[in-house]
This record gives sequence, C-alpha cells and structure tokens, in this order.
Amino acid sequence: MSAHPMLSPSQTTRFRRKLLEWFRANKRDLPWRKQKDWYPVYLAEIILQQTTVEQGLPYYRAFIRRFPHVSALAAADLQEVLKLWQGLGYYARARNMHKAAGILTDRYGGCFPQDYKQALALPGIGPYTAAAILSQAFNRVHAVVDGNVSRVITRLLALEDDIRRADTQKRIQHVAGLLISRKYPGDFNEAMMELGALVCTPRAPLCASCPVSRYCRARDLGKAAQIPYKSPAVPKRRQYHLVMIRERENRILLRQGNDHGLLAGMWGFPVRVVSGKELEQPGKIEQMAPDGLHTKKISPPMRHVYSHIDLKYRVVWLEERPENRDDDKKNLWLARHELEHYPIHKAHLKALHWLDQQMKEAD
Ligand code: SF4
Repeated sequence: MSAHPMLSPSQTTRFRRKLLEWFRANKRDLPWRKQKDWYPVYLAEIILQQTTVEQGLPYYRAFIRRFPHVSALAAADLQEVLKLWQGLGYYARARNMHKAAGILTDRYGGCFPQDYKQALALPGIGPYTAAAILSQAFNRVHAVVDGNVSRVITRLLALEDDIRRADTQKRIQHVAGLLISRKYPGDFNEAMMELGALVCTPRAPLCASCPVSRYCRARDLGKAAQIPYKSPAVPKRRQYHLVMIRERENRILLRQGNDHGLLAGMWGFPVRVVSGKELEQPGKIEQMAPDGLHTKKISPPMRHVYSHIDLKYRVVWLEERPENRDDDKKNLWLARHELEHYPIHKAHLKALHWLDQQMKEAD
C-alpha cells in the first residue's frame, strides 16, 4: 500500500532508498550513533526530549561517563542524578530515568524490553521514545514522530491541518508507519528526523538540496514555508515570586522543594508568592522582610519560563541574626562553596549568580 496519495508503491520504495542514501552520506557524527547498544540510545533519547542536540550533547557525555551502564545509573543517589541534570530543566525526566534504570536492572536483568507495551510501561517512556529505542537499538519496525518528522510529512503531503490537533497527529503517525523502511527502521526514523533538522527546516527549507524533493507536494505547490500550520499556543500562566536568599554568618539557607510536582527533589531558596503589582514596588518588598531579617539588597526583576509558567521574580538578599535556628533535613545553612553540591533549579541558579555579583561588588 502506498503511504503518500501521490506515490505508487514503487515510488515509495525509491523514496526510502533516496532518503537512506542521503542519511548515510550526511548524518551528523553523534556519539550514540557509533554503537547499536540500547543504553546510549536510551540515554540520548531521554536527554534530547524537549532539548536540542547542541544543548543535550554535553549532558549526554557527562551521563555516559559517570554512569556507563544502566546498573550504575540505578545504583546512583537521585540527588547525584539531579545534580548532573542541573540546568537542563524538565526534571521529571531525570527522576523517571533514574526510576526506570532501577526497573530495568531489577526486573529485566539490565536489558531493555523489546516488547512495545512493556517499553511503554516504563517511567518516562512515551510512544515516541519507545519507538525510537526499539527501532534504533533492536531494528523493530516502529515509526517515530517528533516535531521534525511532523514537519516533513505535512510538507510531503501538503497537509494544511492544524498539527496541534490529535486527529492530525494520528494521520501523521499513520503515514509515518506506512512510509517506514521494513529493513532499516532505525536508520529510516533517524533519517526523517535528520532531514527535518538539517534540510526541511522550519522557516526556510532547503528544497533545492533535498533528496526527496521530487516526492514533495508542498514544494510543487510553492507552499513549503507555510506548512505545517500550528494554531497559537495557550498563553502560559504568570507567577510572581520573591526569592529570599537568607544569609547568616556567611552561610546561606538552602531548602529542598516538595516531593511532588515540577521541581520535586530539587533545591532552591525560600519563596514568597506576590502579585505582579507588588513585584514592581521595591519599597513595599523591603517591608515584607520576615521579623528579625534585614534587607541588604533587592535585584531588578528577572524572568524564567517553564513549560506552563512564565515566572517573574526578584531576589531579596536578607541578613539575619545568628540566634535564629531552623535547620532540619530540608533546610540547610551552607557556605557558598557547599551550594555547588546540591541540584538547584535554574531560576534560583540565576538568583545565586546575581548574589555572587553583589558579593563581589561589596568586597
Ligand atoms: S522539498 Fe522542501 S519542503 Fe519538501 S521535504 Fe524537501 S525540504 Fe521539505
């Protein structure tokens, strides 16, 4: 059966051949591509979710060096895993990866299940990741669809439906499943993603050097740059915080967040939620200092954007008297250099960098 309304089965075969030839000659030299072992592929796939290759590569190298086998990852302390993940965001990925490593070691003897449903049941593994690992590491025929593949397929078909819609995604997945090479599914999946990343790029696709341009309807119709259509995103929720950096005898209070939610397991500074109006009034913020604490400095407004939250905040540097004692397992008074050993989420890392600058200027 042909996957493309304009392609016959023999053209579909030629399409696959052209794409695979191009991929083998042009693919980027990425470390997890050098071997067919599942573990490097697994690490790379988890790290690269919602992350570019350029951004994820140093993290991949750090993880494979520190945890060369899944059993090493399973045996690690979660805090160490989160520390190595620091700065990459979406920390649930790191927590799930650590949990899945435990299951893979205990239940599957350090191997990855080759059954799609069993793979999907692992923490942090969705349809895309399961298909990517099974096809690349085990040559199983499961088509992957990520943003790059969606773009390539909608252009090949000149499909103008909204790609945020579930039925459009279902159609794209269906077409990907028909197009995929039965002989080289892993290479085919990677080739589609690579084509989207290097040639069929979002704004200005390089159609003149595209290996499959003769099979592309969007190009024929002169619509390549307008496809895919994506409806506007739902606006992110706004939040306003005061990030309280409390200092006492050259020590800073660091606090561990909740056990659940976006930043579970991560460390940061105490936070006070305020309104957008309050955040704009440094004079009022100064009066909000808890009893016994003296405000040394307030930062200009800062911003950090999470997947669903647009956070605006100021850092409030507070000094307190030595007699206030409130240490416990989740509230630690640490010297500045000791903070380096704890996984701190990115918005609060920015707060810490601001503090470092202030301290340097005060010296
Ligand atoms: S011809 Fe252009 S739009 Fe079509 S797949 Fe190739 S790069 Fe993308």
